[in-house]
Amino acid sequence: METRDSMLQHVDFHIRDGRSVSLQDPWCDGLTMANKFRHRIFRSVNLPRNANLDILMVNGSWDLNLLQGQELQQLREYLVLRPIHTSADKLLWNNGKFSYKEAWKICRFQAEEVSWYKFCWGKARPRWSVTTVFVMLNKIPFIVNLQRRKLCLVSRCSLCQSAIDTTDHIFISYRFSKDFWSWLGEILKWNMHQFAEVVSLADLFNWFQVVATVGFHKTLFPAMLWGIWKERNARLYGTATAPVIVAMLEVLDIHSILLSDLLV
Ligand SMILES: [Zn+2]
Repeated sequence: METRDSMLQHVDFHIRDGRSVSLQDPWCDGLTMANKFRHRIFRSVNLPRNANLDILMVNGSWDLNLLQGQELQQLREYLVLRPIHTSADKLLWNNGKFSYKEAWKICRFQAEEVSWYKFCWGKARPRWSVTTVFVMLNKIPFIVNLQRRKLCLVSRCSLCQSAIDTTDHIFISYRFSKDFWSWLGEILKWNMHQFAEVVSLADLFNWFQVVATVGFHKTLFPAMLWGIWKERNARLYGTATAPVIVAMLEVLDIHSILLSDLLV
């Protein structure tokens, strides 16, 4: 709906004989006649809603005689200033200057820029990036998220049964995740003191930005989230669990780094 309204600000109805434009089209500066001139306008004019615009015209001009009365004054004043064009009825984009680039800019949904996006793409494998986007936007269907969709479920982590099943719990405070981050920090000789204060994904990302100072470390953020998510599902659904080092080795492989170099 928002996109439609934005687009309508860039289109213009050029009226010639009004036969191709419905009274219910948004031909009044991007608004329908009812929206621009009160919703009761059709009753005042006594016109069928499904009529075309030519019903308001006579001999190629606006039929102002049809629009008598105080209630229709605004509409009369609007039509007096509304030009009748010489070519056929047309719907024009930006006065006939259409560009895909411009249209895309208007149609696309633009969310607020997030600070973690630079860690998400680049050298990250697509599966890490996609998982990271879902995790950071809290779109993973954990029970608390499903409850928001009115599903009646008990909100308890299916793995440890000792906490509410949330994104923060699975990626930060669940035992496996804690060990995973600590293990990584130990290998990379990160300062892990502040990790104890991390309780949310926002905290996690802020902490990560401080400790991950070497270029390739950035790729570890999406890799770690993916590794945790993969392991969580493997444990939950009883499939083969993969050691967390798999994600780490993939990152090192991308950057042609040997794990033994980091362990020195
Ligand atoms: Zn748990």
